[in-house]
Amino acid sequence: MIKDNYGRAVSYLRLSITDRCNLNCFYCRPCRNTRFIPHNEILTYEDMFYLLEVVSRMDVQKVRLTGGEPFVRRDILYFLNRLKNSFPELDIRLTTNATLIAGKIRALKDIGIKGLNISLDTLDREKYQRITGRDFLNNVLTSIDRCLEVGIRVKINVVALKGVNDHELEDFVNMALSRPLDVRFIEFMPIGQKTLWQKEHFWSSDEILQSAQKITELKPVADKDMNHGPARIYSLPQGQGRIGVISPLSNHFCLTCNRFRITADGRLRTCLFSDKDYRLLPLIRSPRINNDQLKKVLERAGLKKPMGHEIMGRNNKDRKSICERVMSSIGG
Ligand code: SAM
Repeated sequence: MIKDNYGRAVSYLRLSITDRCNLNCFYCRPCRNTRFIPHNEILTYEDMFYLLEVVSRMDVQKVRLTGGEPFVRRDILYFLNRLKNSFPELDIRLTTNATLIAGKIRALKDIGIKGLNISLDTLDREKYQRITGRDFLNNVLTSIDRCLEVGIRVKINVVALKGVNDHELEDFVNMALSRPLDVRFIEFMPIGQKTLWQKEHFWSSDEILQSAQKITELKPVADKDMNHGPARIYSLPQGQGRIGVISPLSNHFCLTCNRFRITADGRLRTCLFSDKDYRLLPLIRSPRINNDQLKKVLERAGLKKPMGHEIMGRNNKDRKSICERVMSSIGG
């Protein structure tokens, strides 16, 4: 088991399988000519298997594949299939912009992917183009409905951006009322050296909930089995879905953080907000390092897992970038 000095245990790994993305969301990758990592410096599927073999024996129970956009990585279905067969006990999930999944939804279901987190910040076609640089909204909406049809659970992640999508709250609530899915609003975080974060764009979870309550009744859902992660979830008695908020800034959840993140180039980040990372790639590929040695490195890194909100307080009086790396290269 990986434990830190505060008694937190790591049971959840976010694995970025590529830093490349087919979208250019302005808040995620503000510098559009960000250099992508050369292919030979990216974890191969074999590297990832080896790493997962090790962590799955250290009580890591849940793995989320993220990116960049996971579905730009070649042979992802093959990879998922192999993962599911090799680690049947691991809870394997994906976060995606859902622009490239249209022809893969049935296969995802057959492989045994139970749910997808789908990032979608607007329901307006023109605004979608302005945020992402691409005209894919209809495609994404069709794929969301197709996922629900085949029985893949959908959680929509909306980055809450005042002045950008706050006027769409009612549309998002209606989406949750009319479909059996979760719509979760995530507070905008000042991540990456060139972050566009500004106070004026910050739309807090409390404001969101207060406004949503005026649209429809919200009933708090208790998280008995700790399934919601850092989200606060509300059911909608008048509809099919649920609304949630994730509040990394206004109500941080560092005390219960159970995560490790692995970037696409195999760097372990023990905290989203800290640039301190551990280069695992050379260890994974070295014939001189065995499973036990890699395990020890993970355990030692775990001991030093920091409290993220302390980093935010220290470095971030004016909330300018907490860390250097952009979100698309960390994986969210
Ligand atoms: N491409 C995939 C997707 O779109 O879901 C996975 C990677 S993306 C980096 C993961 C998540 O991070 C997305 O939901 C995105 O909206 C979110 N994100 C990116 N930058 C953010 C920021 N500064 N604050 C809050 N969320 C952010």
